[in-house]
Amino acid sequence: MLDPTTSRPRAIIIGGSLGGLFAAVSLRAIGWEVQVFERSAGVPDSRGGGIVLQPEVEAVFDFAHVPHAVPLGVMSHERIYLNLQDEIVSRAMMPQMQTSWNTLHGSMRRALPDGVLQAGERLQGFEQDGARVTARFASGRVEQADLLIGADGSRSTVRQQLLPGIAPEYAGYVAWRGLAAEHGLPQVLQGKLSDSFAFQQGDDHMLLEYLVPGENESTQPGQRRRNWVWYRKITAGAQLVQALTDRDGVAHAFSLPPGAMRPEAVAALRRDAALLLAPSFARLVEATPEPFVQAILDMQVPQMVFGRVLLVGDAASVPRPHTAGGAAKAAANALSLARSLRSADTSAGIDAALARWQKQALRHGMQMSEWGIALGERIMDMGASASGGPRTGMY
Ligand SMILES: Cc1cc2nc3c(=O)[nH]c(=O)nc-3n(C[C@H](O)[C@H](O)[C@H](O)COP(=O)(O)OP(=O)(O)OC[C@H]3O[C@@H](n4cnc5c(N)ncnc54)[C@H](O)[C@@H]3O)c2cc1C
Repeated sequence: MLDPTTSRPRAIIIGGSLGGLFAAVSLRAIGWEVQVFERSAGVPDSRGGGIVLQPEVEAVFDFAHVPHAVPLGVMSHERIYLNLQDEIVSRAMMPQMQTSWNTLHGSMRRALPDGVLQAGERLQGFEQDGARVTARFASGRVEQADLLIGADGSRSTVRQQLLPGIAPEYAGYVAWRGLAAEHGLPQVLQGKLSDSFAFQQGDDHMLLEYLVPGENESTQPGQRRRNWVWYRKITAGAQLVQALTDRDGVAHAFSLPPGAMRPEAVAALRRDAALLLAPSFARLVEATPEPFVQAILDMQVPQMVFGRVLLVGDAASVPRPHTAGGAAKAAANALSLARSLRSADTSAGIDAALARWQKQALRHGMQMSEWGIALGERIMDMGASASGGPRTGMY
């Protein structure tokens, strides 16, 4: 027997970023009643910035009939590598599409009826009683459902209650990131980078850059943004704490959102860029109003289903960004969950569907984690190649 007050099974989703909304639209598409609880009072920080558009994301949009702009992103046709002198040292045809966190999030948010996304609700804990889960929020609110989905990211409250011994580990390097409006950028930079997916591989660091939709989700030339990510080694300890200390002097665990970096840290980043980066990339860093920073993390759970509570997206495993697949993995988790649950119309059927789902979702997460670590080691640990050309085929 499912929820006795309604004929439809009900899921509570914790976290209203990409992972939470992929799950919400997918479960609604199979007839579940869904509510998403997000701790941020407004739209969560656009921490993802640019996102390489992977087929799994498009598959969720198709499955759940999420209306979206066409195209959903900006095409790049080739990959280029620049050296310190701004010369193109490698060029390869590789068409692919890049989008942005706000484009994906905005499309899904608009597809959800009012009331599904509850902002400003922080989960504190939950209890299970057979096939019912009760969630408690900091506001005092209490909610019950047939399923509780932890889509609350790498520092998941849901996971901390289920697996208190598992936490993300710092991988030894950070990603400085930024988005700069295309229309304000110097012509010389625009001409050099054009619509390429552009890289610079240096000693112990790598920068990549690509075009993404504008803040208003426009993909029209002149209204787009350039998204860049600069991976650099930072020793754990005082140096890392300093990088993650915000303008109010508060030390954050793993990331600083746009606008939070100290002015002197932004100035130091720009000085380093002028020394270590190709002039086109240094100009881009200089022109970025609010750079931000994220520590690169490794984390993988051994189990994703705990009775009627489960973990998806970064709450379950954090693949390194070189896979360009964190959002794609969250999308794949949501889609396979909806497909498994689609024909489950009894409580036992739901349990069996969750067991089936866990098998494939765990395997997928582990493969992505291992692949990301291998790519990261190659990018960050090997001596610089003499040419400054590619060290891997990925990001
Ligand atoms: C440098 C970098 C580049 C990347 N590039 C790509 C890329 O190109 N392609 C790609 O696919 N992925 C990329 N990713 C990964 C991608 O951003 C994430 O994997 C993806 O967004 C999935 O996130 P999530 O929704 O699971 O978690 P998150 O985005 O971390 O969201 C968790 C949400 O839960 C909320 N929350 C947390 N605790 C609570 C609580 N107690 N109660 C209520 N709400 C709570 C948070 O406020 C947040 O909104 C990149 C990541 C990095 C670091």
